[in-house]
Amino acid sequence: MIIMEATKSKFLKVKCNDCQNEQVIFGNATSRVDCTVCGRTLAEPSGGKAVIKTQILEVLE
Ligand SMILES: [Zn+2]
Repeated sequence: MIIMEATKSKFLKVKCNDCQNEQVIFGNATSRVDCTVCGRTLAEPSGGKAVIKTQILEVLE
């Protein structure tokens, strides 16, 4: 589990742990982000930070 600082507003390329779908999400998501394919939770907000709950492939500047 990786917690992104809210001040770092970067996009992340992540890979779903369940279905291997690759998806770009916002690094400081303020709402829950689900996998578009299988619905698994990829990130959810926690105290102003986004908790990334899957594999991060790349951080996009
Ligand atoms: Zn998935």
